[in-house]
Amino acid sequence: MLAPASARLQAGGGSSTRMRPARCAAATLRMQAFKAESEKGAQVPLPVAAPVPGARGLAGYHHSPSKTGYAFFMPALSLLGPNALKAAGKEITKLGLKKALIVTDKVEEGLELLRSAGADFLLSFGGGSPHDCAKAIGIVASNGGSIRDYEGLDRASKPMLPLLSVNTTAGTAAEMTRFWESVSETNQSFCPWWFLLTCSIITDTARHVKMAIIDSKVTPTIAVDDPLLMLGMPKGLTAATGMDALTHSIEAYLSTSSNRITDACALHAMRLISRYLRTAVGDPGNVQAHDMMWQVGQLHYAQYLAGMAFNSASLGYVHAMAHQLGGFYNLPHGVCNALLLPVVLEFNAKASADARVGMLQWCMVSL
Ligand SMILES: [Zn+2]
Repeated sequence: MLAPASARLQAGGGSSTRMRPARCAAATLRMQAFKAESEKGAQVPLPVAAPVPGARGLAGYHHSPSKTGYAFFMPALSLLGPNALKAAGKEITKLGLKKALIVTDKVEEGLELLRSAGADFLLSFGGGSPHDCAKAIGIVASNGGSIRDYEGLDRASKPMLPLLSVNTTAGTAAEMTRFWESVSETNQSFCPWWFLLTCSIITDTARHVKMAIIDSKVTPTIAVDDPLLMLGMPKGLTAATGMDALTHSIEAYLSTSSNRITDACALHAMRLISRYLRTAVGDPGNVQAHDMMWQVGQLHYAQYLAGMAFNSASLGYVHAMAHQLGGFYNLPHGVCNALLLPVVLEFNAKASADARVGMLQWCMVSL
């Protein structure tokens, strides 16, 4: 039987068998001091739990409050859940948009078609590539020049053409992020070291390199995540995209640019993916339809949460190296991430005593 929260606190914490006595005592003292000050009517700030080295509790998972604040990037509107796609039409009408260019691939051809057809918005439908291609067309259509002019961070001056992006996989989150990436066959321009470290950009000057753009102006106008579109994905695609989403959540959580909101999104994404990815990949033929719908729905929710996390917190060494690996050998992005993730976590564990790394290793083992 659960004791009331106050009683559990006095007894040494709700999860008393798992919490450290010193940490419980510190929390109790903070609460008692706060209660005493409140009873005196004093204006006191809410108690803030300082990070405790090695702590395993909600306070230990989160950053201390930022002194400078932080930004959190999202699409103007996200439509989520079964039949979300049906609602998208109404939203497009509300925006007064009339003619769509449906994007699959090929930026240059897309730009020509856009101009000749007089389309006033873009519609991308798929996993990562169609959305990235639409972002490239949209930013060049409104800003001019070539897509290479926008390589880097926040290089565009005008908003992109409106983009409705419809996601059909549970992994990349390209339908809702400000990230754009593609293989380029041209030489890479100069990229500063801090950008390389924080944004996973490839600077290989050989012919097959990945070019990356991170710009809030390429965030889709409306993101649609309808799990009905994800049913029937091949096992390999479910596994690869699921591992991509897991990597997004872990790298966002470990990022030095993470914040309290991205932490919350990343942690829940990790929990959901750890719980549901294995069974969703296992044997879809042996799973009841409604169970599969549930599992796919959870993964779809998780990949969106992971997108919310890395869209603002950015990514890390796994993506930095996975982009190079995938670009050079033409390998699936999620597979490259899955190969590199344990190695990078091991490296991070040696370099940092932060409790986060230990927790994430546990997450990997449980998967
Ligand atoms: Zn990724």
